[in-house]
Amino acid sequence: MPEGHTIHRAARKQREVLAGAPVQATSPQGRFADGAALLDGRVLRDIEAHGKHLLYRFDDDITMHVHLGLFGRFFTHPAEVPEPRGAIRLRLVGRDAAVDLRGPTACEVLDPDDELRLLARLGPDPLRPDADPDRAWHRISRSKREIGALVMDQSVMAGVGNVYRAEALHVLGIHPSREGRSLTRDEFDALWATVCRMLRDGECAGRIVTVSAADAGMPKSRIPRGERTYVYRQRECRSCGAPVAMWDMAGRRAWACEECQH
Ligand SMILES: [Zn+2]
Repeated sequence: MPEGHTIHRAARKQREVLAGAPVQATSPQGRFADGAALLDGRVLRDIEAHGKHLLYRFDDDITMHVHLGLFGRFFTHPAEVPEPRGAIRLRLVGRDAAVDLRGPTACEVLDPDDELRLLARLGPDPLRPDADPDRAWHRISRSKREIGALVMDQSVMAGVGNVYRAEALHVLGIHPSREGRSLTRDEFDALWATVCRMLRDGECAGRIVTVSAADAGMPKSRIPRGERTYVYRQRECRSCGAPVAMWDMAGRRAWACEECQH
C-alpha cells in the first residue's frame, strides 16, 4: 500500500502536466465509462491529496475521487500515448502528458455530501499545510490502543503507512506497543514533526530513506536498497545492532528494537 508521500507526489506530478487545461477522459476498460464521459473535455482545475486519497477538481464543481489501495498504480506517458492495453480504468490525456490509472480500489465521481463524509473520517495529514496536529493528539492522548496501531489508523493521522510507522517510532525511541495515552505532549509533538519530515523527504525523493547520511556514512541518495531503514524489514537494528523484533499488530507486521525503544 503506498504511503501518503507517494500520493502527494502523484498529485504534484500530475498537477504539473494536467491541471489548468481541458482533459480527455476515457475508461478503456469500461468500468468507469459513465464517470469518464462526465469528465471528458472539462478543465481539470487542481489535484489534492488527503492522506492516501486523491481528489481531482474539475470545472462545475465536479470532483473525482481515487484511492489506489493495494494494487492501484498510475502510469504517465510524457510523449506519445500508446494504444490502451489491459485493464486501464481511467485514461486522462492533457496538455503535456497522459496518465493511466490501473487497479484502484476507488475511482468515482463524488457528490459534495460523499466528499464531506470521506474527509470527516480522515485524520490530519502531516503533508498538508492545513493539518491540525491537535486533532491527532486529542485521539492519541485518550486512547488505550497501541501507538503503533494509532499512527496507522487513517482516522487518527492520514497518510502514515507501515514503513514510516516503524521508522518514526524507532528514531524517537518509542515502543509501538505503548498505549497512546502514555505519550507525553512533547513525545507526540516530536512524533508529528518526525512523521512530517520523513513524509516530506519521501515526497521529494520518490522513495523512502529514513537512515541519515551520518549513520549510513554516505549521501542518502547512495544508500543501497535494503539499508535505507533502521528497523523496517531489518534483522538487526541499524542503530545499535540488537536483533529487531517482528510481530503482528492489528493485522499488519510491526518492527521494533527492544533495546532502543521503550
Ligand atoms: Zn536498537
